[in-house]
Amino acid sequence: MSRRRQIYEGKAKILYEGPEPGTLIQYFKDDATAFNAQKKGTISGKGVLNNRISEHIFTLLGMLGVPTHFIRRLNMREQLIRQVEIVPIEVVVRNVAAGSLSKRLGIEEGTPLPRTIIEYYYKDDALGDPLISEEHIACFGWASQEEMNDIADLAVRINDFLCGLFAGIGIRLVDFKLEFGRLWENDYSRIILADEISPDGCRLWDMASGEKLDKDRFRRDLGGEAEAYQEVARRLGLMPEGEANMVLDLDKHRKKRGI
Ligand code: C5P
Repeated sequence: MSRRRQIYEGKAKILYEGPEPGTLIQYFKDDATAFNAQKKGTISGKGVLNNRISEHIFTLLGMLGVPTHFIRRLNMREQLIRQVEIVPIEVVVRNVAAGSLSKRLGIEEGTPLPRTIIEYYYKDDALGDPLISEEHIACFGWASQEEMNDIADLAVRINDFLCGLFAGIGIRLVDFKLEFGRLWENDYSRIILADEISPDGCRLWDMASGEKLDKDRFRRDLGGEAEAYQEVARRLGLMPEGEANMVLDLDKHRKKRGI
């Protein structure tokens, strides 16, 4: 296999040069980090599952008219994406109090929020991704007002869609993180959804049991993180059918052929 040029290595993904100008290959690792990489580990098979889950969600969002960087999945761990200039802001959407919001404001985890909250964090590992306001974004020129309008509109649309998607498979979408990028066309750029949407960057709680099906299992040493990610993929219909179904299918097949 020819050597590809590595563009960037993050905590959970690697970006390689793509086959055509303006494209990149996004490789999903099994590495897991938490608390600004103070806690490190691996979740076996996570990269494969996140690649598949993110592909599924980005494809559906694309069908709804949400512009995304996703082009197509290439293999188990890689997808072809459009190269963008990443906006240095992590956009967190919250429907239920949890995590840093609960800690910062003393609101019990699991309290439904009377309205959806959008928060912005400045993407800077050395500073520990601090919470920022739109004033900071405007003041330091991290994004224009027009771009922020697009980002907020897209975040709300994505939240509405994801809440419904997950509710349909018995999962409560507590909160999640999004990243956006600028896609340049000549002298103009437009905002598109980038990065990934997977249990790494979402809080997903089983509606019946309250069981966590996301990276909090790793962050909080709950165990069963690989199984939780698999369960999300399974409910989304992304896992191969179980043995029982295979036998049933075979039976049907035999009957049809009169064996
Ligand atoms: O930690 P906090 O409560 O602020 O996280 C909110 C949401 O954003 C969670 O779903 C978490 O997984 C996600 N997040 C992330 N990457 C970060 C910070 C938060 O994916 N660097």
